[in-house]
Amino acid sequence: MSAPKFAIGNWKMNGLRADQREIDALIAAHPDPGCGVVICPPATLIADLARQSVDSKLSIGGQDCHADAIGAHTGDTSAEMLADVGAAYVILGHSERRTNHRETDAEIAAKVTAAWRADLVAVLCVGETEAERDAGATLSVLSQQIAGSLPAGANPARTIIAYEPVWAIGTGRVAETAQIAEAHKALRDDLTKSLGAAAASAIPILYGGSVKPANAAEIFAVPNVDGALVGGASLKAADFGAIIAALEGA
Ligand code: PEP
Repeated sequence: MSAPKFAIGNWKMNGLRADQREIDALIAAHPDPGCGVVICPPATLIADLARQSVDSKLSIGGQDCHADAIGAHTGDTSAEMLADVGAAYVILGHSERRTNHRETDAEIAAKVTAAWRADLVAVLCVGETEAERDAGATLSVLSQQIAGSLPAGANPARTIIAYEPVWAIGTGRVAETAQIAEAHKALRDDLTKSLGAAAASAIPILYGGSVKPANAAEIFAVPNVDGALVGGASLKAADFGAIIAALEGA
């Protein structure tokens, strides 16, 4: 079985209520996409966007969650709370959270478990820094991150992996297709070792890092690339729509 394809937009800390018009435009332009389409807006917009897209094929996700369901965690949001307002996905372990909030693999694994507990699809991000790539450590870093942040027994229907080389995120520098192919094959092999071939082949592995309309088709042609996690180019419906179209045609 091959994995379903996904285009997932990460709005990061961008988006005000006025930007909901981008969601209307996206739904109007892609009412029946040939891939999963998810927008992960800032927490302030999740409920509104979930309501706005309820009768469409567009899904909404969070950008992080706490490992606990409730409790004294000022400023945090639980997976159950995301699900309660209509999110179906949550990005976890994004490099900006690993760096800015010093999230460890163990903490990320606990968040993935929380996402599954709340019936969310966990979009688990992994990726090497430029220094790690230069040191020839890319594949071992990816293996360690998967071993440390993906809990045992992952259900393919609730799990998406995003390979995001840190040096390619928001920089305009895209990994070469050979680098993407090598990393995605290694990730698929790691998943096969831990979950078996059938489950591993059903888990989407997305590429993330400066995906744009102009480079999307080339990236989607790489073996084991099942779509993209898109930051900057997901903010405008026209750009994200062009990436969706490239994935549909892949
Ligand atoms: C991201 O935020 O995960 C990302 C890949 O950003 P960008 O597409 O802007 O590089």
